[in-house]
Amino acid sequence: MADALLIKGGRVIDPAQNFDQTADLLIKEGKIAWLGQGAPPVAVYAVLDASDLIVCPGFIDLHTHLRQPGGEAKETIATGTLAAARGGFTTVCCMPNTEPPLDSEAMLTYVRTVAAREGVVRVFPIGCVTVGRKGLELADLNELEMNGAVAFSDDGSPVGSPDIMRRALEYSRDYQRPIIDHCENLFLSQGGQVNEGIASLEMGLRGIPATAEELIVRRDLDLARETGGHVHIAHVSTEGSADLIRAAKEAGVPVTAEVTPHHLTLTEDDVLKYKNMAKVNPPLRTERDTEALLRALSDGVIDIVATDHAPHTAADKEGDFTKAAFGISGLETALGSLVGLVMRSDLSLNNLIAALTVGPARVLGYAQLGTLETGAPADVCIFDLHKQWLVDTTKFASKGRNTPLAGQTLTGKVMATLYVGRPVYLDESLKIETKATP
Ligand SMILES: [Zn+2]
Repeated sequence: MADALLIKGGRVIDPAQNFDQTADLLIKEGKIAWLGQGAPPVAVYAVLDASDLIVCPGFIDLHTHLRQPGGEAKETIATGTLAAARGGFTTVCCMPNTEPPLDSEAMLTYVRTVAAREGVVRVFPIGCVTVGRKGLELADLNELEMNGAVAFSDDGSPVGSPDIMRRALEYSRDYQRPIIDHCENLFLSQGGQVNEGIASLEMGLRGIPATAEELIVRRDLDLARETGGHVHIAHVSTEGSADLIRAAKEAGVPVTAEVTPHHLTLTEDDVLKYKNMAKVNPPLRTERDTEALLRALSDGVIDIVATDHAPHTAADKEGDFTKAAFGISGLETALGSLVGLVMRSDLSLNNLIAALTVGPARVLGYAQLGTLETGAPADVCIFDLHKQWLVDTTKFASKGRNTPLAGQTLTGKVMATLYVGRPVYLDESLKIETKATP
C-alpha cells in the first residue's frame, strides 16, 4: 500500500479557501499535501476516483450526544463515531449531559481515553457550565479547559441563573471558549410536549411557546453584549430567535448560532404525521419558522448547522407521546436531508458546506480544521450530490434508530470519509487502487 493517496477528478469545494473546481487532492502522512491538476508531486500513490463526486473537508458537528458514560444502551463513543463517519463527519463535539456529567478532570480524561481507543473520528468533549449540570454553581471551567474541553454547555438544560451565565461569559471572554446555551425558559416550557400552535391544539397537549426560547436568547445576548464573552446559541428554532441574533450581530455582540437539519426541514405538521419520532426539544415549529431559519443560514446570521444527534433506545421512544424521550438520531441523515434545501432555496452548496466545515471550526477557533489547505489534517468527506438512497435504520451504525426519516428516500449520499488520511467509511461502490507513475 502506497503511503500517499490521490483523490482524483472530483469537484473540490473548500469554502475556507474559496475553492470550487475540478481538481485532485493528494494526501500524505495523514495531511493534505497538494491540491491541483496534472501529475501529483509523488511517484507512488494510491488512487480514489472521485469523478462526478464532491470532495470537501470532513464535517464538524458541534452538537452530538454520544451518551457515554451512563447511556450506553442508547449510544457509545464507538457507535456514535461510526455513525459520524457514515455521515461524513470527522470531528464531533460531544455534549456533557452524560451520567455522570462531564464536569471534572476525571470525566474528561475518561471520554478522551475511550475516544482515542474506540472512536473512529475526532472527539472534542464539551464541559459542563455548572457542577453536575445542576445549575447551582459554576464548574471549574479552567480545569475543564486544561483537560480538553473545547466549549462549555449544560445542554439538555439551559443555564438558568443569569449570574452564572454572566460569570461563564466573563470566562469565555478571557479564555476564548464559547458558552453554548440551550435556550429554554423552564417556567414557560414546563410540561410542554410540542410546539404551541397547531400541534398542541390538534394533539391536545401542552405546548412549548416560541417565547420560551426567545426570552433566554434575549437574556444571553444582553449578557454577551455586557461581558464581551462569546455565546453560542444551540438549536435555534424560531423566527424570533433568528431576528434577535441578527440584530445583536449588527450591533457587534459576540454571538454565533446553530440550526439543526430537522429544524430546517420539518415542521409541527410532521409531528402529527410521525408522532414520537418527531418529538424533539426545541420542538419542530411552523413553516414560517423553517423559512426564516433557512434565510438566516443563507445570509450568515446563523453560522452553522449542527445535528443535535440524540440517539435513544426503541423503548425510550415508544408508547404514550407524553412519556417518549425528546430527540432525533441525526448524524447519518444530516447531509441527505440538507442537500434538498440547496435544490429548492437560496442556500448555495458552498454555504451549506461552509456551515458544516469552516463554520464550526471558526466557532471553536481552530483554523487548522474544516479546510483542505496544505498541511491541514486530511479530514475529507466525499459525497454524491445526486445519488438517492433509502433511509434503512436497521443498517444504521448508530444505536439510535429514532428518526422520522426512516423509510424515506433522500438525495445526496456520503460515499467516503477520511479521517487523518485513513478511510473510516467507504461506500461499497468505491475502490482505492494502487498505481505507480511511469
Ligand atoms: Zn439542547
